[in-house]
Amino acid sequence: MHLAQPLPLPIVEALVMSKKVAVIRKEHFNAAHRLARADWSNEQNEQTFGRCSYPNFHGHNYEVEIKVVGEIDTKTGFVMDLKVLSDLVSEKVLDRFDHKNLNVDVEEFKNLNPTAENICVVIYELLRPHLDQKLDLFIRLSETPRNFVEYPVGY
Ligand SMILES: [Zn+2]
Repeated sequence: MHLAQPLPLPIVEALVMSKKVAVIRKEHFNAAHRLARADWSNEQNEQTFGRCSYPNFHGHNYEVEIKVVGEIDTKTGFVMDLKVLSDLVSEKVLDRFDHKNLNVDVEEFKNLNPTAENICVVIYELLRPHLDQKLDLFIRLSETPRNFVEYPVGY
């Protein structure tokens, strides 16, 4: 009986070489916020931001997807080690945002309205410096099950 031989290593590596793949880490955090501009009246804030403008804050269950795109490393078979990504997200994002009041506790939102759009960009900026430059990063954030934002655009 003929036993199939494994393909030689250079051929196997050529199969995956230069192939771009996305790896995605999903995370969750709970946080409180209030959407308002200090230079607007409560009426103007409520007209613009609705119930998210109520002065005493309220919470959301945020879902975030951190998508990293890059070529597969032919030695490891990884685009990036998802454990490393998970630890990075925990340290840079979850430890700072989870069970916090974004307006009060998080430096980035002291003077920035914590809309889903702004939170998404801040998460990107917190993570980007810690990833290899040859990897692309995309963030998707949902504040409610029906509303999503993405940054940068081009998912
Ligand atoms: Zn809200």
